[in-house]
Amino acid sequence: MSDTDTEDPQPSLHLHFSALSDVGRVRKDNQDSGYAGPHLLAVCDGVGGAARGDIASATAISQLRKLDVPPADPADLLPGVAGALDRAHTRIGELVDDDPALNGTSTTATVAWFDGSRIGIGHIGDSRAYLHRDGTISQLTHDHTFVQSLIDEGRITEAEARTHPHRNLILKALDGVHDSEPDLFTIELAPGDRLLLCSDGASGVLDDDRIADILATGTPDFAAVELVRASLEAGSTDNVTCVVAHVVTDPPAELIPLLVGSAAHLPRRTGTLNAVTGLFRGHRSGDTGELPAITAEIPDDLEWAIPSDPIDPEQARYAPQAPRRFVWSARLMTLVVLVGLLWIAAAGAWSWTQSQYFVAEGDGVVVIYRGIDADLPGLTMSTPYEASDVSLTRLSSFQASKVREGIPATSLEDARRTVDNLAALQADDSTADDE
Ligand code: MG
Repeated sequence: MSDTDTEDPQPSLHLHFSALSDVGRVRKDNQDSGYAGPHLLAVCDGVGGAARGDIASATAISQLRKLDVPPADPADLLPGVAGALDRAHTRIGELVDDDPALNGTSTTATVAWFDGSRIGIGHIGDSRAYLHRDGTISQLTHDHTFVQSLIDEGRITEAEARTHPHRNLILKALDGVHDSEPDLFTIELAPGDRLLLCSDGASGVLDDDRIADILATGTPDFAAVELVRASLEAGSTDNVTCVVAHVVTDPPAELIPLLVGSAAHLPRRTGTLNAVTGLFRGHRSGDTGELPAITAEIPDDLEWAIPSDPIDPEQARYAPQAPRRFVWSARLMTLVVLVGLLWIAAAGAWSWTQSQYFVAEGDGVVVIYRGIDADLPGLTMSTPYEASDVSLTRLSSFQASKVREGIPATSLEDARRTVDNLAALQADDSTADDE
């Protein structure tokens, strides 16, 4: 039993909380984890399929739940949340370092730290936090998902996102490798507010109106059970985790922190938690079939992130960034390839110019040049190839001006014919300047 209200020097508000997690009707194991306590609400949805997302979510919750004490200073609220998420991230990284089989594991994290009047929210991934106040529900968090980016760009609607083939693909997660960069913000609470933190097993199938209807009635225990039940009845094929809290002015009696989902199965050093591992088993159908495979075309910019066939939707869920240690080498390779392509293009262009000929003046006589009759700054594009004995002074002024301007040729032979013609004109024209 734990009533930590006496630990808070001047609490004005309290949380009446509950939490429930269910493996659902399709998956074989529960990779969600959740926590609810007097000062902390958290949901983590493990990602990684065979890479043991359950370990990532349970590890994250085991770190995050250390926040379930009042902040020593109000200014600590967001730094505290950020620090806890960073410790979770670091711990996951340590586990992966110790066991390469865990490589690829990651988890979402949505956490709310309560200081008696506000919650500091830290969020990464696609689990969600909702606030129900005065009959209106609002989603506090912004999904870090591929479909949310399409919604933000106005390319699809919220309704279309619910059935999009890549609706499960998240773009950020705690994975122990990449900077987690969580969203961090505070919300002022008011008496009567109702909070829900949930995994996408619930938010993916329940619209805001349905969530609001359930949150608005009954106790937190009732709401948590009803939200999970409604999610499964709505056809959720995922693990479902719901953490519910009502904001009250009088301290609720006899509430103990709740640990649910895969975190409830981790070894614990304290007996003060209620690890809820099987409250909702009666709603399982026993169906352990696979989820439908992703069959739609993969966007080019994310194609590399999707495992090859057969596609396990859970394994395809997280589109990790390329490992940082490869970023600079990848950039260098790109630069080398670009320079190489430019060199090849320049060499090809130069080679082409050296197969071209034209006729022009050189030192007073008609000369065949190799190259093109144009110069670039700092670069001569032609060289004298073959001089003739045809003097421009022996040509008519018109012919001489044409030579000075340059007479194009289709080949060396063509250039020689032009020179021969000019030579003939020179020979025939004893009154060259009478033109
Ligand atoms: Mg999920």
